[in-house]
Amino acid sequence: MKMCSIRSGSRGNAILVWTEKTKLMIDCGISGKLAESGMREAGLSPEELTAVLVTHEHKDHTGGVGIISRRYGVPVFANERTWCAMEGALGKIAPEHKKTFDHIQEFSVGDIEVSPFSIPHDAADPVGYCLTGEGKKLAIATDIGVLQESLFRAVKGSEAVLLESNHDRNMLEMGSYPLPLKQRIRSERGHLSNEEAGKAAEFLVRMGVRQILLGHLSPENNYPLLAEQTVKNTLTAAGIQPGRDMMLGIAPGDRLGRICEI
Ligand SMILES: [Zn+2]
Ligand SMILES: [Zn+2]
Repeated sequence: MKMCSIRSGSRGNAILVWTEKTKLMIDCGISGKLAESGMREAGLSPEELTAVLVTHEHKDHTGGVGIISRRYGVPVFANERTWCAMEGALGKIAPEHKKTFDHIQEFSVGDIEVSPFSIPHDAADPVGYCLTGEGKKLAIATDIGVLQESLFRAVKGSEAVLLESNHDRNMLEMGSYPLPLKQRIRSERGHLSNEEAGKAAEFLVRMGVRQILLGHLSPENNYPLLAEQTVKNTLTAAGIQPGRDMMLGIAPGDRLGRICEI
């Protein structure tokens, strides 16, 4: 199974996860054009897309969902409350392409088993996704306000995780965002800082995760190098050597990430 981020970050998210038979896009908060060129760049054709899975209704995750569903005739999966919250903004979705599941109910698409899990974030019923295919499991865990044991329980057994590393605490503190927005990002229903991502990464590696991609970086309150170095420092202090014991990388906000194979 393979995973590749077309874009990851506050300006738009679209992550590809695929097996030989099934090609999924997790969120599409980018333009249809960018989603198409990203798929081609990753070696897939947009015509082979099987479905789009939505984590939550925020625009950076849903902006291009309607376009992709209409253009390629693909189903869109989201839980009931997310559907209610996003439906008005998607444009017309063919009734047969509206796929609903209950809260965090498991389902499969092609030969990929999908296990949604709840995440603490300020949306209607936000989820992360664990995806199992070809005998391997990976997880997408971004837009997380606070680290909870339930997250680690859900992603257990994953070999790769796309983990949020949204902001550097000091940059957010000193930056130009208005106070209410700063408070929202810092809150338990906001976003994960680099420091928290470091702690999460340490725990994930101890659980057996071998590849971690840091994603959903804020372009205003973070730098890829800073996120990577902060997480690296936590791992190294815990006796884990990135590059030797595990692979640490970035899912960039402005270009295609590397293809991660498990
Ligand atoms: Zn969000
Ligand atoms: Zn987001």
